[in-house]
Amino acid sequence: MAATPAYLYGFMILLKPCFALLLVMIGISAAAQSTDRSEPEKAYAEKKPVSSVHYQAGGVCVSANPYASKTCLGILRAGGSAADAAIAAAFVLGLVEPQSSGLGGGGYALYRNANTVLSYDGREIAPISAKDSRFLDSSGAPLSFTQAVHSPLSIGVPGMSALMKSLHEREGKLDWSALLAPAILLATQGFTVSERMSQSIASSPELKLTEAKNVFYVDDQPLPIGFLFKNPSYARTLSALTQDPKSLYTGALSQSLLAFLNQISSDISAADLGSYAVKIKPALCRKLPKTDPADPIKLCAAPPSTSGGIALLQIMQSLPADLDLNSVQGLTTLTNAQALSFADRGLWVGDDEFFEVPVDLLLSHAYLDTRGKLSQQAFSIPQDQVLSGIEPLESAPAKDTPNTTHISVVDAWGEAISMTLSVESAFGSKYYASDLGFILNNELTDFDFTPNSAIGPAANRVEGGKRPRSSMTPIITLDSSGKVLGVVGSPGGSRIIGFVTSALLRLTQGSSVEHSVSAPLVLRRFVQTEVEPELGSEMILKLKDTGHTLKIEPMASGLAVIWRSTKSTTTHPTFDGAADPRREGLALGIPEAP
Ligand code: GLU
Repeated sequence: MAATPAYLYGFMILLKPCFALLLVMIGISAAAQSTDRSEPEKAYAEKKPVSSVHYQAGGVCVSANPYASKTCLGILRAGGSAADAAIAAAFVLGLVEPQSSGLGGGGYALYRNANTVLSYDGREIAPISAKDSRFLDSSGAPLSFTQAVHSPLSIGVPGMSALMKSLHEREGKLDWSALLAPAILLATQGFTVSERMSQSIASSPELKLTEAKNVFYVDDQPLPIGFLFKNPSYARTLSALTQDPKSLYTGALSQSLLAFLNQISSDISAADLGSYAVKIKPALCRKLPKTDPADPIKLCAAPPSTSGGIALLQIMQSLPADLDLNSVQGLTTLTNAQALSFADRGLWVGDDEFFEVPVDLLLSHAYLDTRGKLSQQAFSIPQDQVLSGIEPLESAPAKDTPNTTHISVVDAWGEAISMTLSVESAFGSKYYASDLGFILNNELTDFDFTPNSAIGPAANRVEGGKRPRSSMTPIITLDSSGKVLGVVGSPGGSRIIGFVTSALLRLTQGSSVEHSVSAPLVLRRFVQTEVEPELGSEMILKLKDTGHTLKIEPMASGLAVIWRSTKSTTTHPTFDGAADPRREGLALGIPEAP
């Protein structure tokens, strides 16, 4: 009975009796309600050759789209900081990759400046009037995921432009206007539609039901690859943001946004827009205990409202030093650790302004030692042991294709940014604000739909003004002197945690950046162990024999990785970078130091 949660309860009872009891009550309820309905987006195409750079002393940019990476590099060359470069790239991504991110969405950034690593939480927020019955029908049953996505209920107050402004205020070197100019130019002159964007339109027929049809279809067909796409509305919106960066919240653009939201019966009000604020907090940083004791790696990740940071730190801290990713035992240990952290995520993580997330307990050495021992059992832990007493968390099949993007940048001053941006599903809610030139997110479907059990409220239930729990996992690693060692992140729904784990494990074990982004992915969130076919039939068979329930399919990670070059010295650091071959990313760098 209650095998796995009992470990955590045990620690809590030892450490903080009253707090523990409360959390146990709340947690049981949360987990009982918790389901993850997002299936990460499908892989559209064959892997491409890996785009990579090596030994770059003047800065590196890796993003999911060549236009964005080129813009990023241009800003670095112009003397911009890593933040400046990522901001300019983000405004371009909102144009050339509208299925993945944009002004109607939000995201998270980690920033390493000269002093510290800060987390910028630009997650979308539920309207203040939102109730925990938001995603229930009149009989109290949860709406279907698809139904909820394609409704105004799914739209949260966008955080993207506020996130960009906050980053620029604290970490920018160039003028704000210089960061918007490249995207304004591209929106005006046009860009060629990529394979991924074209396929994404074709896979999102719901776009035809909204004003998006007038933009993403030509002659009743999805925009073809290579089509010259201009977005004058987006250019006008960015020009307005150049004059008034808060325009979407309190200025002229907010009037236009509100008019559109009213038209589609969204309950987002002027007060919701006006009160939006980015949360800036210290990053969650922990030493990886298993790396070289003389030069331990510090892993920094984002705290809640995302669950990605806590989950990744749990996994990385509980795995053995010599984990062999080429052995069945190693992969079993890895996937066990992932499933255990996923169970904790479901129970204990939500927006920490609304739910007291037991971060220190979840990341305590004592607790992770216990989790580590459980992970190292020679078999795949059955789901009922991972989540004993809790409803099995099989992910419901969703037709939607969650969509997100990641930018990694290191600049010549040794500053770095790891930023994941999203509209959630492909083209978010599919509602397109024509006058403004962007899609509105469906991020609120990341909330638990079922708010209560007989025992108590869920950590991730809908509440007014709350951020839905995310899986985005932007990370920055530091060496023992605090200098940047690496920057990693990926899109991929709740598979993001597994994608980032895979790349980070390989990088800390000495793999090349190319291998870290292209190696076959293996992960476990719920019952199934998910593997890419390239793992090979021999290993797949061995995993099956060991007790894994397998789901075998190509996955749509979009890793953007930067790592210190092997030839790098402390006085002359150089970096390698690589983009995931499963998407359209490009790695670029400046070879010479300024
Ligand atoms: N909405 C998801 C999250 O915040 C991201 C979706 C995706 O990566 O495709 O975890």
